[in-house]
Parts: sequence; C-alpha cells; structure tokens
Amino acid sequence: MERLQKVIAHAGVASRRKAEELITQGRVTVNGKAIKELGTKVGPNDKIEVDGVPLEREEPVYFMLYKPRGVISAAKDDKDRKTVVDFFPHVEERIYPIGRLDYDTSGLILLTNDGEFANLLTHPKYEIDKVYVAKIKGIPPREKIRQLQRGIMLEDGKTSPARAKVLSIDKGKQTAIVELSIHEGKNRQVRRMFEAIGHPVLKLKRERYANLDLRGLNAGEARELTAHEVKQLY
Ligand code: URA
Repeated sequence: MERLQKVIAHAGVASRRKAEELITQGRVTVNGKAIKELGTKVGPNDKIEVDGVPLEREEPVYFMLYKPRGVISAAKDDKDRKTVVDFFPHVEERIYPIGRLDYDTSGLILLTNDGEFANLLTHPKYEIDKVYVAKIKGIPPREKIRQLQRGIMLEDGKTSPARAKVLSIDKGKQTAIVELSIHEGKNRQVRRMFEAIGHPVLKLKRERYANLDLRGLNAGEARELTAHEVKQLY
C-alpha cells in the first residue's frame, strides 16, 4: 500500500505537493469515491482518477542509455528519426528521457516512467552535476578556461561557476579536448559556452550524470539502474 499523493506523483501527473492539492480540492477519486484525506493509502488494484481521468499506473523503471550521436532525446519524433526510446524495444512501460541531449551529442541519458523522479532531477534546485567532454576548435589559452570556470554571459543569463579542465591538445589539428562540469541545464549550454569563448564544439559527449557514469557500456547500449543508484538520486 502506498500513499495516494505518492502514487499520483509517480504517474507524472503532478509533483507530490501539487498531488496533495488535487486531493484536498476533492479532484481525486479512488474506486469512484472522492478522497480528500492526505494520509489515504492505496493498493495496486485501486482505480484512481484525477479530474475524472483514470491514472495510468505502472511499476517504476529506471534505465541509463549511452546515447549515440544522431538520435533524438524525446519519446517521439515528428520526422520519424530514431529516438532514445527506440533502444528499449522490450520495455513495455512508457518510458521517456530525463532532460535532453542534443541530436549530435552522445553520452549518458536516463529514462524512466517515474514522473516524480524526472521532475526532481530536472529541477534546478537539485543542482545535479553533469560532466561533459568536448572536442573544441582551437587551443584555448588559460584565460578562456578561467572564463568558463567563472561563468559566461549567455543571452538567457550568466552560467554558474563551473569546473573546466583541458585534457589534451592537438597542435597539428589545432583542437583541444576539454572536460566541463556544470549543474544547470540551459538549452545547448555547453555548446553555447564554448561558442562564447570563441572555441566552437566539434564533438560533445556527456560522461557523467550525478553519481552515474558510462562504465561498461558502449554507444547504443543501456542498462537498468540498481536500486541503490536510484535511492542515491531520490
Ligand atoms: N549542452 C549542450 O550544448 N548540448 C547537450 O546536448 C548537452 C549540454
């Protein structure tokens, strides 16, 4: 048996706090009866409706995928391109990606059907650390790397202080490999940060997401998170 507000939040209908509001406002029914009590517990076979719409209940599942380049991080694509969900043909639950990686970015992305988990991890308040490795054009002088570390003015605001480290340089090809750790999720943030210091990204990969990395996976491979990994993130 689980608390009603938790079950609603898991289904992705609302945050837990919003779910509590829905209940106290009398908008939730269990087996046809309006329930306004917050402590109410429900079992797996109870029929829950929110505003008359049946709640789709599934066991929560959690996966990580090593997304290759050339894949859309959405559940569906109107141009019929390959999506991250296409890598899970045997998963029956309706999973979707948590956050986004660009079409041309490879690396670690999580997928779940747990709406509450997805909301938590994408909320700026949680400041999940994300580590990217970028191949960039040109060899950045130390001052440019310092700019990345201090924060960069982008058109939608200044980025927070970040960790940035040059891993290697190729003098012949005039490229560098730089590791950048950020905890925000502005659209195309890493590409725009490098663009802003005059060193556009040629290739981008996300190596880490919070406590998780890609060890043991090749591009295109996925695995389920362990219960311990999920607990650390919740
Ligand atoms: N920043 C980017 O620019 N692209 C991504 O895919 C992720 C972060």
